[in-house]
Amino acid sequence: MSQNINVALIGNPNTGKTSVFNQLTGLNQQVGNYPGITVEKKLGFCKLPNNFKANILDLPGTYSLNASSIDENVVIELLLNKNDKLFPDVAVVVTDVENLKRNLLLFTQIKDLEIPTILVINMTDRMKAKGISLDIPYLEEQLKTKIVLVSTRKGVGIEELKNTIVDYKNLSTEPCLNASSIDRAYFDKLQQAFPNQLLYKLWLVITQDVYFLNLERKEIPSEFTKSHSELKRLQQKETIKRYQFINDTLKIGQKIDTANATDLRAKLDKILTHKIFGYAIFFGILLLIFQSIFDWSSVPMEFIDSTFANLANYTKNHLPAGEFTNLLSEGIIPGIGGIVIFIPQIAFLFLFISVLEESGYMSRVVFLMDKIMRRYGLSGKSVVPLISGTACAIPAIMSARNIENWKERLITMLVTPFITCSARLPVYAILIALIIPEKRILGVFSLQGVTLMILYLLGFGMAIFSAFLLNKYLKLKTKSYFVVEMPTYKLPLFKNVAINVVEKTKSFVFGAGKIILALSVILWFLGSHGPAKGFDNAESLVIKKVKAENRLDDLEYLNDQISSHKLENSYIGIIGKSIEPVIRPLGYDWKIGIAVVSSFAAREVFVGTLATIYSVGSHGDEERTIKNRMAAEVHADGRKVFNFATGVSLLLFYAFAMQCISTLAIVKKETNSWKWPLVQLIFMSGFAYLTALLAYQLLK
Ligand code: GDP
Ligand code: MG
Repeated sequence: MSQNINVALIGNPNTGKTSVFNQLTGLNQQVGNYPGITVEKKLGFCKLPNNFKANILDLPGTYSLNASSIDENVVIELLLNKNDKLFPDVAVVVTDVENLKRNLLLFTQIKDLEIPTILVINMTDRMKAKGISLDIPYLEEQLKTKIVLVSTRKGVGIEELKNTIVDYKNLSTEPCLNASSIDRAYFDKLQQAFPNQLLYKLWLVITQDVYFLNLERKEIPSEFTKSHSELKRLQQKETIKRYQFINDTLKIGQKIDTANATDLRAKLDKILTHKIFGYAIFFGILLLIFQSIFDWSSVPMEFIDSTFANLANYTKNHLPAGEFTNLLSEGIIPGIGGIVIFIPQIAFLFLFISVLEESGYMSRVVFLMDKIMRRYGLSGKSVVPLISGTACAIPAIMSARNIENWKERLITMLVTPFITCSARLPVYAILIALIIPEKRILGVFSLQGVTLMILYLLGFGMAIFSAFLLNKYLKLKTKSYFVVEMPTYKLPLFKNVAINVVEKTKSFVFGAGKIILALSVILWFLGSHGPAKGFDNAESLVIKKVKAENRLDDLEYLNDQISSHKLENSYIGIIGKSIEPVIRPLGYDWKIGIAVVSSFAAREVFVGTLATIYSVGSHGDEERTIKNRMAAEVHADGRKVFNFATGVSLLLFYAFAMQCISTLAIVKKETNSWKWPLVQLIFMSGFAYLTALLAYQLLK
């Protein structure tokens, strides 16, 4: 049996690596993170002619092997580490026919590592429009490689690529550039010191300080490692040498007839990055997107909601009563429902984002927004997550993946949960209705509406402010991308968009989903179980009490009383009560405490939990009943519980606190560590506590 051939797809950003990857693998893809870092690792499988099979690795876009970002390090580490399971048998360097000169720099570097290499020249469908013609035999000879002309858009060249991969043993491994031609004295000496090592590899170990198995930088004598500036100078010499070689090669191998190239792109660019129209168009598009996300996903979301509710009911009614049935119908089924419910929003958001990215528009957005956002440590691309956050932080945080710079991406993910999400709305709505009078300012603006707007602004302001702080105090070694790519405008490839949507949804369901499910089952357990005393004999206790009130024939009342009693005596109830000393300074009693603790499942649970505690079940007009009940609730001394001070304090608490396990789960998934969700939890909730405390103490 032949082993799978390892194929690595390497190339500059936007040359079509992922498109080639998609063409080769279809949906046979696995997406994960590289161990220890958050760069996405895409691995796929592909059947080749003559019963060969290949593992295809889609590597992050890189400009050269002179690493300046984590993404580029991934490529270098793979290429230097022969013991890596995925060490390529063949490197496929993907280039864009319109940017051959720049793209070939990386190609020549890879070639010098003496790995069998195939040069894919992609986007050949555009050659005619751009007036480009290539002398392939000449280029193949000069570059000492096999060239495959591909257009993933037209599906051209993929079969030839597969055949060439099968034949990889016949590929040349001759280097393009003799390393010692960069600086003869230095490199010849280096080779003498390490006669058994490949010169270019040695050079990479010295300049990149990458670890690779049989050699580390510290084993290299200091006469070679020199000073930083001397190495930089040599690196520059290397780049110049390479470009000389590439220029010479292309001068003969490539002809460009500029006469029939169109200038549509320049015109579009002018409008889309215009100082006024650019922003107007961008916000118009954003508005359209988020409107559609809200509108379109509300139908499937309601469907999912009711389906899971019915399923839970069905299970409860048809399985033998008992602990297992309860676990299923109250823990697991609603837990899975709580994951599935996010799918429509995630799918729609990524549908739009992939179209924006694919079409080339996103790069214009970055260009437009970058300057403003960068002031706060964010990137132009942070606009999308920040605005998506108004729907839900989960898809928003996932959409931060488009941000290449790790620090900017991390900051974006950390501050996004401050944005007012739709789950906060029901909480705001009921609290505002309770404490803000239905007055109008200047006869037009409703005071309640203005309050809501202030809360939105507070969230946004806090997000920007914390980004500013994080940018200042977060010490992270990342170098910013200095090249803003301006790819040409293209019609999005349907296959790319579809695969992207499926893959993002999958990674949410199977990545964060597990944590969400586990935590919801734990919350269910804590809310429906309690220490024997007061919990186990809840029914008989409540019946006794209701009998004394002479209302035993009111079944609804009885059931509400039982649920309320059970919740009060459950573990969550006990937690809620035991934190009372901590939350009393904020103006909350233990009942509110229970609601706050339960809100960790999802913020909107706040209202439902209070309804259960006040035993005003879900009959009739729930909102009215619960609101009246909350309005009537008084402390032992007769003061209203939901007075102005407590209301404001609660509003601020919900505005700032990190109270959503699903968000914590997705941050864990996206950052590959528990550190960042914990930082969020502590910082946001701590800040929420302090502001709520301050508000209550000042207002009471
Ligand atoms: P990557 O950054 O290297 O992974 O590149 P992608 O695969 O994401 O492709 C970048 C852009 O080029 C996308 O907008 C693709 O739709 C587009 N693209 C990819 N292949 C072709 C092609 O053969 N022809 C044309 N015209 N566009 C392509
Ligand atoms: Mg890609």
